[in-house]
Amino acid sequence: MTNKDIIDLGGKYLFQIYARAPLALVRGQGCRVWDADGKEYLDFFASTVVVNLGHCHPSVTRALTEQAGAILHVSNLHHSAPQAQLAQRLVDASFADRAFFCNSGAEANEAAIKLARKYGADQGEGRYEIVTALGSFHGRTIATITATGQEKVRRGFQPLPEGFRYAPYDDIAALEAAVGDRTIAVMLEPVLGEGGIVVPSPDYLKQVRDLCDRRGLLLILDEVQTGMGRLGSLFGYELSGITPDIITLGKGLGNGVPIGAMLASERVAEAFGIGAHGTTFGGNALTCAAGVAVIDTLLGDRVLAHCAASGEYLRERLRRMQGELPIIRNVRGHGLLVGVELAEPGAAVVERCREAGLLLNCTAEKVLRFSPPLIVSREEIDAGLAIVEKVLRT
Ligand code: PLP
Repeated sequence: MTNKDIIDLGGKYLFQIYARAPLALVRGQGCRVWDADGKEYLDFFASTVVVNLGHCHPSVTRALTEQAGAILHVSNLHHSAPQAQLAQRLVDASFADRAFFCNSGAEANEAAIKLARKYGADQGEGRYEIVTALGSFHGRTIATITATGQEKVRRGFQPLPEGFRYAPYDDIAALEAAVGDRTIAVMLEPVLGEGGIVVPSPDYLKQVRDLCDRRGLLLILDEVQTGMGRLGSLFGYELSGITPDIITLGKGLGNGVPIGAMLASERVAEAFGIGAHGTTFGGNALTCAAGVAVIDTLLGDRVLAHCAASGEYLRERLRRMQGELPIIRNVRGHGLLVGVELAEPGAAVVERCREAGLLLNCTAEKVLRFSPPLIVSREEIDAGLAIVEKVLRT
């Protein structure tokens, strides 16, 4: 099938909810992908910040192949080694004592919202509200669009569940003012992803932790985008030196297979007893086998140090470009989650980069998001930036 065949077929039969670019990808290897007409692209989007180890990483492919030949799915009413092993690795590598697995980032956040409410209910003080940030993104389910601090994702879906309040991001006084007698938790991204790659001031998360401790609140960090090495540390919270109560993961955890996770400390996890939550596919043997391969590769192959150094190189090169190109207003980010704020909407730049063989995307209308696989080489960064520079100069 050609690009056109695939695009026409989807155009006829799929819900038309995505503003898709006119290409159909059929193959990927490392930081490169190929469309159905054989055109090659550098993927600086990592297929929506998912393939942190690059496309078809051999360790993930091997784990999937072996697991597919053994058993694909084990019911959560039985035990499964890949699920227990992935939980052990995530717990050993984090603040957490326990892991729950699901199928996506939104589901992980649903679980965190439910856990916070149940924790609040168990305390018997009528506290259930969760304060989130304006500009945040937490998913597309009814509860997670309500948690999301963007009016546009909620429009048309009322009535929404009660129990959410919003405060401007990176403003501790505003957050404190939004906390009320019924608040049980604060839920934040360590760096706003879909909201435009907004990096908070260095002390912000420390101040939030302090606020949560003073007011008896849980601190939930949505690490669906920032986790699994994206910021140059395994989890984003490590950069701020704080300990959250709950974190949520998705995207890079399976390097392309759909898996989400919620990690929590024992004190909080205890609020979920038998029957409090669950899922058919969450913790599936196949996806957890991929997760084990991902975390072992991230920690074993010095991927995190490579990501941190590559991110610095990428930002430094972009800042040099900023000095010459007034269309670039700001360059920001951590590790390989990098935002380039333009003076104008970025959609046309994304389109022209794609035509020239580079996949990027644009968040918050004017912010180009650079999120290549964490294994990206200097040569690939240089090749991608040569395309960006050419597009921005013309
Ligand atoms: N949370 C954050 C920070 C995200 O960036 C996303 C997706 O972009 C989600 C949650 C939702 O994840 P999913 O699309 O896997 O449901």
